[in-house]
Amino acid sequence: MGEVFENHFEELENCCLCEWKCGVNRLKGEKGVCRLGKPEIASTQLHPAPPQSYTVFFVGCNYKCLGCQNYQIAHFPDQNRASHWFMDPKFAAEDAIMMINSPFGRSIRADRIFFSGGEATCSLPYAEKIVEEARKIDPRIKVNFDTNGFLTEESLERVLRFSNSITYDIKAYHDDVHRALTGAPVGPVLRNVEVIGKEAKDKLWEFRVLVIPGLNEGEIKPICDFIASIDPSLPLNFLAFRPNFVLDRYYGAPRDLMRKAVKIGRMAGLEHVDWCGSSGIKGLDYVIEKIDVYMREESKIAGGFAFLAGCKTHPRDCGRCKNNQNCSLKKYQPIRRT
Ligand code: SF4
Ligand code: SF4
Repeated sequence: MGEVFENHFEELENCCLCEWKCGVNRLKGEKGVCRLGKPEIASTQLHPAPPQSYTVFFVGCNYKCLGCQNYQIAHFPDQNRASHWFMDPKFAAEDAIMMINSPFGRSIRADRIFFSGGEATCSLPYAEKIVEEARKIDPRIKVNFDTNGFLTEESLERVLRFSNSITYDIKAYHDDVHRALTGAPVGPVLRNVEVIGKEAKDKLWEFRVLVIPGLNEGEIKPICDFIASIDPSLPLNFLAFRPNFVLDRYYGAPRDLMRKAVKIGRMAGLEHVDWCGSSGIKGLDYVIEKIDVYMREESKIAGGFAFLAGCKTHPRDCGRCKNNQNCSLKKYQPIRRT
């Protein structure tokens, strides 16, 4: 492990993997916005959702999304999650290949290693090393990189170099909605959408938009128009929001809204647009105070949820927030997960 860190992870001594460009020495215990030290794995499993894979879930994330489904691993080390470990990349690669070729792996047609999290960008050198080792065993093994799009241009280039497919989340189109939902600006995300759409279309599995009723409904059309303006054949999948994390009391996306999203996509000219997920989950009672510093009604409500969970910096900007090393929102304990 020592040798791996010395030879491959020295860039973590000045971490600029994502657009926060913190410049901290993660190997010496300094913490950036993601609050990660050395990269670690939360779990690995054969996963039947397309693209079927051996999925590696890394701990840690550079966003603080209100409706995070994986908050226990995304907000490591601030959430109390038991399992996190550094698996030697060679061993991780051997395990991945063995599992993909196992009877269960073959039965679900798993054909690739899928890096997820949290946000895999915060663990990019670790993912690269696992791929390098895996391709020594099977040079044709495929790789999927799952991302929120907040990568630097250099990190995106690296991802495109080793990935066969990319699954890419777009949380919002307008900056104030994106900030209210995630704590981060949207500019780099849209820039990277254009790079992938124009220069690496063959690597895009799909863009994904989590539809949260009343919080980003107004974003559906601009996102569809934006993607269609790049290339109408780019695939887009809408995911139905289920109440989770800070939005634990909120209600899930109704089926009608998901159908409407697909219709908006088709009207925008998109040729490959669909939706998936569980729809129509009911909300619980809650009272929300809107935060007026945001421009749009949707972001005022989203900002209110963040405020309720302890976020005092609005518009949200986790990179500049003086509380980012002691963020109450990261420690939020939801009353339900769906
Ligand atoms: S938030 Fe991004 S740049 Fe900052 S330490 Fe984490 S991965 Fe590095
Ligand atoms: S308190 Fe600061 S670090 Fe935490 S979510 Fe709000 S802006 Fe981000």
